[in-house]
Amino acid sequence: MEILVINCGSSSLKFQLINSDSEDVLAKGLCERIGIEGSCISYTASGKEKITKEIPMPTHHEAISAVMDFLTDDVVGVIADMSEVQAVGHRVVHGGEFFSESVLVNDQVIEQIAQCNDLAPLHNPANIIGIKACMDKMPNTPNVAVFDTAFHQTMPESAYLYAVPKKYYEDYKIRRYGFHGTSHSFVSKRTAELVGKDYSDMKTIVCHLGNGASICAVENGKSVDTSMGLTPLAGVIMGTRSGDLDPSIVEVIAEKEDVGVQEVLNILNKKSGVLGLSGISSDFRDINAAVEQGDAQAKKTFDAYIRSVVRFVGAYVAVMNGVDSIAFTAGVGENNPNIRKAVCEHLEYLGIQVDDAKNNTRGEEVEISTPDSKVKVFVVPTNEELAIARETVALVK
Ligand code: ADP
Repeated sequence: MEILVINCGSSSLKFQLINSDSEDVLAKGLCERIGIEGSCISYTASGKEKITKEIPMPTHHEAISAVMDFLTDDVVGVIADMSEVQAVGHRVVHGGEFFSESVLVNDQVIEQIAQCNDLAPLHNPANIIGIKACMDKMPNTPNVAVFDTAFHQTMPESAYLYAVPKKYYEDYKIRRYGFHGTSHSFVSKRTAELVGKDYSDMKTIVCHLGNGASICAVENGKSVDTSMGLTPLAGVIMGTRSGDLDPSIVEVIAEKEDVGVQEVLNILNKKSGVLGLSGISSDFRDINAAVEQGDAQAKKTFDAYIRSVVRFVGAYVAVMNGVDSIAFTAGVGENNPNIRKAVCEHLEYLGIQVDDAKNNTRGEEVEISTPDSKVKVFVVPTNEELAIARETVALVK
């Protein structure tokens, strides 16, 4: 069965066409600058060269049309016509408390996603636009919504309630939601397979370390705690996001810099984290290079990043009263042996031992702990598109 996976941003649309039987990616690409001058689409059919073409895309509707044209093109297309696509799976960022699993889209679902717009103002409206564009262009094809927040809906109240006046939760739904759920679910399931234990009977900590980063405690197949909060700003230090900090800092920055709360949050989201602290880059490749050249600020940034990850891993060992396995995933987690080694060096008290030779890999699924390590440690490449395709098939079969 061919499944089209769509991930819509406010001015972008990422897509993959996946055959759900072989799980092969038949084609993938990205529409950029939607609604902006100079919009273009890049498209790669499996085994072929990447093609880039400038096409006017005033809205996501034209973007979907461009994707359909490429997929069915006589020369570079991979299907004869769009009826071969049996369903579309959409990444939706915020499902609030409405969705604890993926759902088939109908009018009520769209309305509920819209009710979460306040919680993810940059993402949810774009996700709805993408869904509606697909409904319009492919009226006979079912759409499935897969939420970043859904996996974390199993967290207990003790994990998701903030200690603020309770009416803020009751009236405004202010609570921890957590994100990257599709990735945490995918990676923790795969980790169970690699360990050879029953998913519903083990404790795993997933470190999703990309430009955005979050850590998740998965106990008996369920998310029981995670580092991101009401929004993705919370938790570990990220590429450009600060992660956790004393909320009073917001007032101090606003006063000293003479800016409003909105601008302070912009600074904490886009100019902080590894970028802000190092003054060099948000990309860990640049930080590693600077550390190697003896840059003192890069080293301080590296150490602060490691400390922030270790704090959560340690906390989640305590939350679950133990841990069987730890998995590293996403851009940094998959490709940065230095970070994995530095984090694991803090965990020797758990009996964790890392094999340096095995750890010296990039982008591959591998066990990096030694055979006698008490906790198994893995690199598990995440694949959110495949996870969305699997969820979609499960709902339309
Ligand atoms: P996003 O949250 O945007 O999906 P990614 O998961 O792609 O982010 O992670 C981006 C980060 O991954 C970059 O900051 C970079 O440091 C790191 N990264 C990606 N590829 C590599 C690589 N080949 N080697 C080292 N680091 C990498």
